[in-house]
Amino acid sequence: MAEANTWLEEVSSSPYAAQLAKGFALLRFDKRLESEFRRFSLRQNYRLRLWYLYFAIAMWLLFAVADQLWAQSGERWWMLLVRLLSLGVLLALIRPMQLTKDERKVDRLVIYALLVLSGSVAVIVAIGHAVNQAYPYEGLILIIFSIYFLTGLRLAQAVTVSLLLVLFYALLDIWAGYPPDVLVRNLLFLLSGNLIGAMGCYLLEYKSREHFLHHHLMRELADHDSLTGLHNRRSFARKFEELWRQAQRENADLVLLLVDVDHFKAFNDCYGHQAGDSALRKLGQVIRHAARRPLDIAVRMGGEEFAVLLYGMSAEQALLHAEALRTAVLELAIPHARSTVAEVLSISVGLACVRPEVARPMSVLYERADKALYRAKANGRNQVVQWDQVGQVAIN
Ligand code: GH3
Ligand code: MG
Ligand code: MG
Repeated sequence: MAEANTWLEEVSSSPYAAQLAKGFALLRFDKRLESEFRRFSLRQNYRLRLWYLYFAIAMWLLFAVADQLWAQSGERWWMLLVRLLSLGVLLALIRPMQLTKDERKVDRLVIYALLVLSGSVAVIVAIGHAVNQAYPYEGLILIIFSIYFLTGLRLAQAVTVSLLLVLFYALLDIWAGYPPDVLVRNLLFLLSGNLIGAMGCYLLEYKSREHFLHHHLMRELADHDSLTGLHNRRSFARKFEELWRQAQRENADLVLLLVDVDHFKAFNDCYGHQAGDSALRKLGQVIRHAARRPLDIAVRMGGEEFAVLLYGMSAEQALLHAEALRTAVLELAIPHARSTVAEVLSISVGLACVRPEVARPMSVLYERADKALYRAKANGRNQVVQWDQVGQVAIN
């Protein structure tokens, strides 16, 4: 790993960090990230690439005037006919591009539009060459640069479209009886244009992939606690709001388990702060395991306090779940000589279950779980207490 990237080792649990460390010189991520990247970049470039395409078409139309100036007589009408027919096809492609929200479809339509645009220029150049060897072919170089730089295609797509253009042009010029030595010279310039375009496009795509990884890694770091890798309090607040609204729509219950380590100050005093950190990390893994269904989340609220938000779970199920969590922590068997409640590290859990109704404030779930946790501590720790329906806490 390059020296500049050694910091990635600290966040190695993130797939984005792992990909950054592994590198992507061939412009390819691991399977899951690759499809996420494609969706992300299609979404990000959607508007910009439409405007770039309009710009390319506008330039292509301006060159229709140049055709009329450079061409000699009869062939200029053929050129105009080719432009008009292509314009019809381009307009037919642009309409669905503006209407669709499907970014992948836009990608396909852009490729079709480029094939029409570049194909038409190749045909026009070949018509010009059929009567006049000096008819300019350089417009093809401009088209090649547009394909690489203006359309937001990935390198592999841009290379394919661009080389197809060169091949199509070569075949047309052979058909037009263009002298082979001049054709070879033109092809040399076109292939060099491709090489420069591909190198620039490589750099653009490399930077855009790097941006994607940094962007997502930063979000992950901002939303997760660095010691345990669990969600942090800020991320919890956002997710809680989302799940509260979803539970309202689906008429589902929400369960909150508030977890606090027993006598943790004494643990630190006895074994040292580093041993305390290591214990919190192990605890984090057990707590993550308790939130393994897709909508559940495990959080480090701060210090030695954790939370588990469980979606659509009944109070009875949640009680069993919380008991299993408490037992799993005991089974970690982390010795705690200074604890008055067990020989190993233990937790107290406050549990509340709420059906999020419209008139009910979100804070109610947290307040109830907090009261239950307070009671669990007061009752002697190393236990689960559930907030019951009459506003009291029921001791389990
Ligand atoms: P109780 O059973 O009443 O919860 O007792 P307690 O000692 O766990 O509670 P208290 O709130 O008094 O102490 C919490 C301790 O957690 C204090 C602090 O040293 C420790 N702590 C908080 N965050 C960290 C951390 O990141 N690493 C370590 N090692 N200790 C931490
Ligand atoms: Mg505490
Ligand atoms: Mg504590």
